[in-house]
Amino acid sequence: MPENITYDLAIVGGGLAGLSLSIQMAKAGYKVILFEKEKYPFHRVCGEYISYESWNFLESLGLELRSLNVSHIKRLQVSDTKGNSFEQQLPLGGFGISRYTLDHQLAQLAKQNGVILYEETRVNEINFNNNEFLISAASGSYRSKLSAGSFGKRSNLDIKWKRPFAVAKNNKLNNYIGIKYHIKYNFPNDLIALHNFKNGYCGISKVEDDKYCLCYLTTADNLQSSNNDIYKMEQSVLSANPHLKKIFSDCEMLWKGPVTISQISFDKKNLIQDHVLMIGDASGMITPLCGNGMSMALHASKIAAGQLQDFLSGKISRDEMERNYSAQWNKLFANRLKMGRTLQKLMLNRSLINFTISIGKIFPAIIRALIKQTHGQPF
Ligand SMILES: Cc1cc2nc3c(=O)[nH]c(=O)nc-3n(C[C@H](O)[C@H](O)[C@H](O)COP(=O)(O)OP(=O)(O)OC[C@H]3O[C@@H](n4cnc5c(N)ncnc54)[C@H](O)[C@@H]3O)c2cc1C
Repeated sequence: MPENITYDLAIVGGGLAGLSLSIQMAKAGYKVILFEKEKYPFHRVCGEYISYESWNFLESLGLELRSLNVSHIKRLQVSDTKGNSFEQQLPLGGFGISRYTLDHQLAQLAKQNGVILYEETRVNEINFNNNEFLISAASGSYRSKLSAGSFGKRSNLDIKWKRPFAVAKNNKLNNYIGIKYHIKYNFPNDLIALHNFKNGYCGISKVEDDKYCLCYLTTADNLQSSNNDIYKMEQSVLSANPHLKKIFSDCEMLWKGPVTISQISFDKKNLIQDHVLMIGDASGMITPLCGNGMSMALHASKIAAGQLQDFLSGKISRDEMERNYSAQWNKLFANRLKMGRTLQKLMLNRSLINFTISIGKIFPAIIRALIKQTHGQPF
């Protein structure tokens, strides 16, 4: 039997999109329930560089970023597979903070604002019937007027709904893996480096407390060619780039092993599924090399919150809410995602990336223009 209460909003997935949406809706006075399958705090695969465009928004949620000892990142270095590199100022720049800390802080804020937060609770089904949602989780069933899907790159619900990207055959935009470590390393505080290797790229930048995030994306094929041995792949494939060779041999690894994720897809996704509003990576994932996925997840939560509140206060119908959200989402993000896909293909083509690095050395303005195409404005 479902609980004897109908929530205004049920959110599935407590990453940046879900947590920030829950805080905005609770602050506006709505009854919100949020489900997260993991228990905070926890590490997740992410490069942990956030564009400054999100700074004001995160503070408006109540997060005191200045007290979290974040790093401030102003410069970008990019190297090709042989180690040739260029360096330049980032147009807007960003800051570094671990997801372990950031998501945990946001989860605390959500609870303080009255969000009912179920941790270690995986949602198995979301059904829409008679103008309300029934959410089925391991802990029971819950009713809500609205529902948002913020369950990230790929979840059990994507498979259940047979969303096209989840059942697609392998292509050039899916079947990637992500691998992340926290390390200690002698590296500038204000620099983010993106080092290319065969069929992948690896980022390094500072987070809080003198730690660095070392995170890379590559094809599942690359790992298979190294007998599914991550260490072997790092020694033979990544270390062909002298910058990466130095990092892997000189750094101090802070964990016993990496955090990993597989089956990452950059294919297009639908924005509404059975009246559930998709936000964050669940609505489409920008390639990590753009360093903008977190800001897009946060920004999407802001536009979703506006539409959900207009529906709940009776200003617009459900149909209008869904159409408005899709229109705003496409206006803000569709071109960024397209540019991200183009850059992803370029980064995985060795001769093209080598050519781009030489262009970047001579014409830094071209690289700055490319970066701007994948980023937005403060919101
Ligand atoms: C290798 C790599 C590097 C990246 N580097 C950067 C970077 O440097 N900068 C940047 O801005 N972006 C980066 N990104 C992208 C960024 O991590 C994502 O865009 C961002 O995390 C999206 O947030 P989200 O809230 O949509 O999803 P997530 O943060 O993935 O959160 C989804 C949550 O849903 C939960 N969940 C899933 N299914 C269920 C279920 N059925 N029930 C309950 N809970 C569920 C999951 O446990 C998870 O906590 C990177 C991505 C990758 C893969």
